[in-house]
Amino acid sequence: MIEIRRDTFWAIPFAYSLLMYVLATIALLVFLYGFYRRFRLWRSGRKVNIQWADVKANASYFVDMAIKQQKIKRDRLYGFMHRFTSYGFVILFIGTCLVVVDYDLGIPILQGSFYLVYEAVLDVFGVLFLIGLFIAMIVRARRTRNRLKHGWADQLFLWLFAAIGIGGYLLEGIRIAETGISYGHWSIVGYGVSKLLQGVPAFGVAWYPVWWISHAILAFGLIAVIPYTKLFHMLLAPINLLFQPVKRTGKISLPYNLEELTEEKRFTVAGVQGVKHISDFTSWQLLSTDACTECGRCDSLCPANLSGKPLAPRSIVTKIRDYMVPDRKITSFITPEELQSCTTCGACVEACPVSINHIDLILSMRRGLIQERIIEQEAEHALMKLDEQYNVWGKAWSERDQWSRGLDIPLLENDKGNDDKKGA
Ligand code: SF4
Ligand code: SF4
Repeated sequence: MIEIRRDTFWAIPFAYSLLMYVLATIALLVFLYGFYRRFRLWRSGRKVNIQWADVKANASYFVDMAIKQQKIKRDRLYGFMHRFTSYGFVILFIGTCLVVVDYDLGIPILQGSFYLVYEAVLDVFGVLFLIGLFIAMIVRARRTRNRLKHGWADQLFLWLFAAIGIGGYLLEGIRIAETGISYGHWSIVGYGVSKLLQGVPAFGVAWYPVWWISHAILAFGLIAVIPYTKLFHMLLAPINLLFQPVKRTGKISLPYNLEELTEEKRFTVAGVQGVKHISDFTSWQLLSTDACTECGRCDSLCPANLSGKPLAPRSIVTKIRDYMVPDRKITSFITPEELQSCTTCGACVEACPVSINHIDLILSMRRGLIQERIIEQEAEHALMKLDEQYNVWGKAWSERDQWSRGLDIPLLENDKGNDDKKGA
């Protein structure tokens, strides 16, 4: 009876396998250092404890956004692209973890019929992964989405991920062709590749270790750079969706109770808690900016941006992310005009697939401007009049009904019990 199991280090000399472990360790350390660097910056913000009630409330939203990807699939083609690449990536990642469990932890799971299904599933999801990447490459090359940025790094990452996917099939094909294993056809794609590669010297057993270590270098290299690039969103978007304090579109959070302050007549600028420096943001607000995918959905719907005002919500988010140093003053990299151009309409929050709350960020910084008395003169006058006369025009109480004089409008003051509505 044939033994069905994974031969992880087939045809790999000891020196190559040792090199692979060294590379894996370096990649992990670089990754952890990058993560720690950002973690320290998030921690420099104001502390907000995780509210488990929020996590519970976020759970179904998380399923809709991270798993069903409902916001992303509003753009049909890009929706397919993102689901193919993300589902493919997650399944291939789980597959790699199972290899670690099987070989490195010595728990033999990749054998028998489970191993055959494992091979088939990974091959199918690998194809989806590659299809998704090729859609993204074509869309970016043809520039059919104006909202996307077209930096060289975006294309490079797509090509590197594709090289890892194709490399995996190549290795599988060589292994099946050289060993002639009877269950090779379970690796649906790898089996086809083995037929194509048969007899090609560059894809024989002699070159196999070279292809194998190149594949490992690419994969570990990409893992290492995750916390230093926008790929970080792969990790932080799900965290942000699940753990972010619940603040859905339309709900504006205040760092004070406006009613209480007004009743107690102690509503002064000194009582406002705004963001003047990076460290005035909460830790969650800072973390959320690292989850940005730079997809530009927020910019493409922002009325201020579309009408030529000096505001682009994506750049507000990415500037906070890129200038994240605790003592850095907000006004050193974001202008008051940008912040004052926001209408708080909420279109950006509604569009954002990773649940970044632009309004919350912008209003926090606007409060900081007020604390520093950086405020448009017209707005300052309106606020002062509101404070003194309870209306933005500064009309005296005695003049409030002036507009109705001479008109046949009954006065509520004559109506008993409605004194408080006088002049309404
Ligand atoms: S809330 Fe502000 S930043 Fe967001 S879309 Fe509306 S105007 Fe633009
Ligand atoms: S803030 Fe959200 S919508 Fe805007 S670019 Fe980043 S991920 Fe996209």
